[in-house]
Amino acid sequence: MVHRIEPTMGGVRWIETNKEPVYIDKGASPKAEYDLIVIGAGYCGLSVALQAAKQGLSVALLEAGTVGCGASGRSGGFVVPHFPGGLTADDLIKPFGKARAERLAALIAGGPSYVFDLIREHDIKCDPEQPGWIQPAHSTKSLKRVKKAYNSWRNRGVDVEWLNAAALHERTGASGYVGGWYRSTGGTVNPYALALGLARVVSDQGVHIREGAAVTSIRRDGAAQIVTSEAGEYKAQKVAITTNGYTPALYPGLQQSVIPLRLYHVMTRPLLDNERGVTMPSRIPFTDLRKSGGFIRLDVENRVVSGGAVFNAGNQPAYGKHHAQARIAEIFPQLKGIEIEHYWEGYCALTDAFLPAIQQLDHNVYSVVGFSTRGVALTQTLGREMALFLAEKKTADEMPVRVCPVERIFMQGTKQLLGGLAFPVFQARDALGLT
Ligand SMILES: Cc1cc2nc3c(=O)[nH]c(=O)nc-3n(C[C@H](O)[C@H](O)[C@H](O)COP(=O)(O)OP(=O)(O)OC[C@H]3O[C@@H](n4cnc5c(N)ncnc54)[C@H](O)[C@@H]3O)c2cc1C
Repeated sequence: MVHRIEPTMGGVRWIETNKEPVYIDKGASPKAEYDLIVIGAGYCGLSVALQAAKQGLSVALLEAGTVGCGASGRSGGFVVPHFPGGLTADDLIKPFGKARAERLAALIAGGPSYVFDLIREHDIKCDPEQPGWIQPAHSTKSLKRVKKAYNSWRNRGVDVEWLNAAALHERTGASGYVGGWYRSTGGTVNPYALALGLARVVSDQGVHIREGAAVTSIRRDGAAQIVTSEAGEYKAQKVAITTNGYTPALYPGLQQSVIPLRLYHVMTRPLLDNERGVTMPSRIPFTDLRKSGGFIRLDVENRVVSGGAVFNAGNQPAYGKHHAQARIAEIFPQLKGIEIEHYWEGYCALTDAFLPAIQQLDHNVYSVVGFSTRGVALTQTLGREMALFLAEKKTADEMPVRVCPVERIFMQGTKQLLGGLAFPVFQARDALGLT
């Protein structure tokens, strides 16, 4: 098995522009027993820990590497008020039932406001920008899906705005888009700094955070659970596993309940003054429906951030950089040939439904995984809901996601293998206007 956890986060540019203090694990002695142990210090684990502590639970948070070293600190930092891709709340009514579909839609629609409010409340120095977010249509085919998403939100009373091609060009400077929708609550952050800021807040709430504590097993001890980690044994009444694309085989079927997908991100050199006025003039980030990556934002140094799925063959960084450079030039012809200065990778976790799952693995042991490519906000809002469930303030029936037994994904290994080889197919389908 590939060892995916990389505590030093080599190459991740967000480290260089981070303004939050790095979390220092002082190796404090743990308590004899906790109400809750959370495994994995990405946004989801940090959010569960924070909100559970606010509910009065004693909490320990165990992280195999360092805070934010998984997808959270490596993400693009897009804070998006929408489902993954073209999925809408209407698509969920049949499989999930109306009440649950609406609950999840409300959670997703409210995600960015929750995140930016938390950042403001705790003065998290993660360069937050909230100029909104756009889902533009890059083809006639995608226009239908983008319109469907727009209508789905509008019919729910969410304040979305339709932009025609000219309005879209005016706000983004981007070429080739035929229309799209805008919502003012979206935005961007330095994702690594956000993880560190959350760790600061979580620690201030009295949560025991332990780094270098890869959990290797969990076993029952009467009504409690014993969690064995590389940093020793911990005892708790309840356990929440929030390891997402890095999920280990702690229970039969758990690792097969998600498909880890390796993604890469790039950053260009900073834009020059003459490029700035015509490239993202209002700094609104956007994400289209191209399967081979059509998402762009600027960072605090005015570098263009983009990326896609890693093609698991040949020289992966060279392939990724080349593709991203071409995609940036397609959207912003004035940036043709722009130097790509930074490249890094990370794992997100897919489920068949492209939505997160809460699974019960044993008595009082749950996992919350499968955030797809839209986890910056949803990990935190669903993490908050999960904390309420663990604190017994919400029942399983009231949750926005079903609480199920562990569910292995059919042909998980094959799907993971094919996912790593699919990128050229995605590129071809995009180029042919099939997406
Ligand atoms: C390159 C990339 C770009 C992305 N861009 C965006 C974006 O712009 N916007 C967006 O909304 N989403 C984006 N996503 C998705 C988003 O980042 C994730 O959905 C989200 O960060 C998941 O958070 P998490 O806490 O569930 O998991 P993670 O952040 O992956 O955290 C899981 C943690 O569990 C730890 N762990 C694993 N095994 C163990 C163990 N045995 N014991 C203890 N700890 C363990 C890992 O070390 C890791 O720190 C992106 C993902 C990637 C990979």
